[in-house]
Amino acid sequence: MFTFDEAETMASLAGRMAVVTGAGSGIGRAIVLEMAARGAAVAAVDIDLAAARETAADAEAAGGRARAYGADVSVASAIDAAVDAAIADLGPLDIMVNNAGILDGYFDVDEMDEKTWRRVIDIDLTGVFLGCKRAVREMLPRGQGRIVNISSTAGLNGTGGGAAYIAAKHGVVGLTRQMAVVYGARGLNVNCVCPGAVPTGIRKHSQAMLGPDIPDISQRGVAVNDEQVRALVPMQRRGRAEDIANAVCFLAGAEADYVNGHTLVVDGGWRAK
Ligand code: NAP
Repeated sequence: MFTFDEAETMASLAGRMAVVTGAGSGIGRAIVLEMAARGAAVAAVDIDLAAARETAADAEAAGGRARAYGADVSVASAIDAAVDAAIADLGPLDIMVNNAGILDGYFDVDEMDEKTWRRVIDIDLTGVFLGCKRAVREMLPRGQGRIVNISSTAGLNGTGGGAAYIAAKHGVVGLTRQMAVVYGARGLNVNCVCPGAVPTGIRKHSQAMLGPDIPDISQRGVAVNDEQVRALVPMQRRGRAEDIANAVCFLAGAEADYVNGHTLVVDGGWRAK
């Protein structure tokens, strides 16, 4: 049996450098704070630089090491520049967390316009690909690295989002598995986390990101109120952003050395039904 102190040491990310996208809010913000608390130097990347700065400042105020960078993950030159700057400031890249994402308003194919489809796929799938692409350029020559992609229970089921979100999140699971297969022999572990319902600003942020042409999405879809959550989730509650951050830290740390191509569902049992 190990003591609590030893358990804490096992979970350490000391000496690691991590880049986290979508770090200005919700799950990404929790990942930055948790990784910094575990000793990693963390680059908080977000399309909203001011929000990323707040996250990095909070991580530093808690005694961690973090810097903020602005980038739209759907633009290759932007994510490349952010990772370049993070490496210059914080050292070689050990951990890449592709977390930035938006909801699609829960529109079915017949109701979804092409512009909304493309924007969601651009951010939720192409954005993950671009983050992975920049990360492997750094990690393959070093023969080591961890990539954790954030998918969703909507990446495994036909519910939990609209057509574009579900297609993108399934794509993230597939991309993760393909990369795990080809890069496993070259020292990389590539895994993904599928969160269930977590209260964050995602509905409000997605509405703003998709523009004024789409209808109000605040009450669309599933898990919009406590009654729905109790009916859906065996644990009868939403997850906390910290629950997801802990799963990401596990996959990024030494305890997950032999975990590759895995899809870690963190949903209070929702998908087990
Ligand atoms: P959130 O609170 O809205 O945080 C997402 C962050 O990503 C925001 O700061 C947002 O910036 C940023 N972002 C959006 N588009 C971006 C882009 N193109 N480039 C860079 N940054 C961008 O959402 P969250 O709930 O924490 O979601 C994080 C991830 O978890 C997403 O991939 C989401 O699909 C996934 N997820 C969430 C849930 C849930 O229940 N919350 C469940 C399953 C999966 P702005 O604020 O400026 O928009």
